[in-house]
Parts: sequence; C-alpha cells; structure tokens
Amino acid sequence: MHRRELDAIAEQVARRERISAKQGLLLLQHERLTPLGAMADLVRRDKHPDGVVTYIVDRNVNYTNVCNAFCSFCAFYRPPHHEEGYVQPIEVLEQKIRETYELGGKQILLQGGHNPELKIEYYEQLFQRLKRSFPDLWLHALSPPEIVHIRNASRLTLSETIHRLREAGLDSVPGGGAEILVDRVRRQLARNKCSADEWLEVMEQVHALGLRSTATMMFGHVETLAERIEHLQRLRGLQDRSGGFTAFICWTYQSKHTELGGEEVTSAEYLRTLAVSRIFLDNFDNLQASWVTQGPKMGAASLAFGVNDMGSTMIEENVVSAAGTVHSMNEPQIVTAIRDAGFTPRRRDMTYAQRTDPVSA
Ligand code: SF4
Repeated sequence: MHRRELDAIAEQVARRERISAKQGLLLLQHERLTPLGAMADLVRRDKHPDGVVTYIVDRNVNYTNVCNAFCSFCAFYRPPHHEEGYVQPIEVLEQKIRETYELGGKQILLQGGHNPELKIEYYEQLFQRLKRSFPDLWLHALSPPEIVHIRNASRLTLSETIHRLREAGLDSVPGGGAEILVDRVRRQLARNKCSADEWLEVMEQVHALGLRSTATMMFGHVETLAERIEHLQRLRGLQDRSGGFTAFICWTYQSKHTELGGEEVTSAEYLRTLAVSRIFLDNFDNLQASWVTQGPKMGAASLAFGVNDMGSTMIEENVVSAAGTVHSMNEPQIVTAIRDAGFTPRRRDMTYAQRTDPVSA
C-alpha cells in the first residue's frame, strides 16, 4: 500500500539525503526488515568505509542504588532508608578501577540513583580523589537526570553544577535517563525525573563546555512509534546545533522485577528500530550495539543493521541485570563476534579514537 513512498525514501537514502520525521515513521511502520537493514548498512558503510567495528574496555560502576525517582521500569533502585540501599565506599570504587586497569581499560561509566543525601560536594570529592589515584582515568559519569538531581539537591544553577563537576574531573557524560524524550511518556514512566527539555538542556550545556556525550533511547514500553521518531528528531536537532554527541545507543525495555511489568518487544522490533535510527540520525557518526540487553548473537546481527560499535566489554553491569537480563561477553568473545561478522575489530576510547589492535585477539 505504501510501496511507492517507501521506494522513494530508499532512493533518497541512496542519494544521501536527510529523511523527514514523517518518512521515518513510515519506515518504522511499514518497511520490511531486509530493506531496512540494507538502507542502514548503506549509511554505516558511508560513515565507516574501512570495515572497522570498535569496542571499549570499561566497566559500569554504580556508586549508589538509593533513588527517589521511583521509575516504574527500574528494578535497580532502592528507596531512601531501605535496608538494601548502599553508597559504595571510595575504596571499593578504587578497587574496581584497579581491576579495570589490569584488563587494559582506562574508563569507567559511573552512574547511580538520585540519592537525596548526596550533594555536589560528594561528587567533587569523589571525582577529585579518583583522579588523584588514577591520573589518566576517563570519567564517563552521571546522566542528565542525575545532574538535574544534583543541581536541585545542592540549590545551584545548572551551569554552576556542570562547571563544578567538570572542574572536579568529569570527562564526558553518558546519555542515560533519556528513555523517550516525550513528556507524555516520561510522566507515565518516570514522573520524578527531569523533563525532555531539561535532558536536552543539560546536554546542550555539556556540549557548549566542550565535553562530549552519548545519546540513548529505551523503547518498547508505553510509547507510540511516532514518539520514537519524535525522540530521534529531538536528538538530531540538538546534534545539528552542538555536534557534541559521539554515539547513539538504543535498547529495548527489560520488564522482569519491575513495577511496570508487561511484555518485551521482539528482536525483530529491536533491529527495525535500530535500522531506522541509523537512517534517521544522519548527523551521528556512531551507532552502538546493545548486546547486554539483546544477547551476543543479536549484538553480532546488529552489525548488518547500521551498527559500527560493539560498546563496552562491560566488566560489571548492575542495572539491566536487576531486570532479569544477564548477558556477558569478554574482550576475546567480542573480537571473535566482530571478525565472524566480517569486520575488523579495534579498541577505542570514549571519543571513538581508535587505539591499538585488540590485546586478546
Ligand atoms: S532508572 Fe535511575 S532514576 Fe529511575 S529509579 Fe532507577 S536509578 Fe532511579
């Protein structure tokens, strides 16, 4: 029924022309999986003609699981005063970083809940101490909702908050907490978290200070397909203005042990959304696989749907695993998966600069 319009979009993509939100929605609603993959692969090959697929050796570290945001999709947090709530002692965090260094990694992705007890001074002291102990550590830390929470808890402006965090050692900001950047969805999932405008405002200010960040999307819960496209459009708009996003990562909602519950979307739905994201986000250089939620086989399959990065070796992960999804891949397994899919594996850093060949090839 929509064949002619879909064919016209494919020709447009082949001519390297930007597609509209309406066209993105049409692809998501009506195009078959195989042509979607072919279009996304074309975009990927344009941006990465060398056939290299990158990955990073790093570790997700959670400094606290205490949170007063109460997101209905989250199985990780504990409310304030809960007996299982924790704030990790700094010695424990340092030990985790030491282990990461032993495996060749120099970055940690440091995130936590919105702990009402932790004000800006906690983060300043933590970052400064970690940088003293590990001078070349790359702190990929916090997320826009955490930064807004720190601002509110510390009674600062957003600009003061970001400046002070950067001065203390923040190197880049993960794009977590975006879920879907549409307030109708956010009110249903995470009513105590920052709005879509605030999420984007944090990233705009982060980019203006010269820090890079990633962008994410968690989908397959209460959003419509049009809202997925609206999310992508807002990211594309900010990237046009700032150019500060290094990569886009999307994953599907993981439902186990969550208050929201419900069904999880299929792997085909993941690949469709991934491919449309690759086609739509023409100003993003890198698209990351989410094998942590989709499993190693789907992670490898996603390399045919626009992905050029296998993400992190994820020495530690606590958030997705709390929702019942436990997948792991070490560096040799990631390298093998990339090679088996016909690509050349390369380690990278957070800025996507390629480093040496894989040590464990
Ligand atoms: S997703 Fe983050 S902000 Fe929301 S409840 Fe979980 S830890 Fe808190």
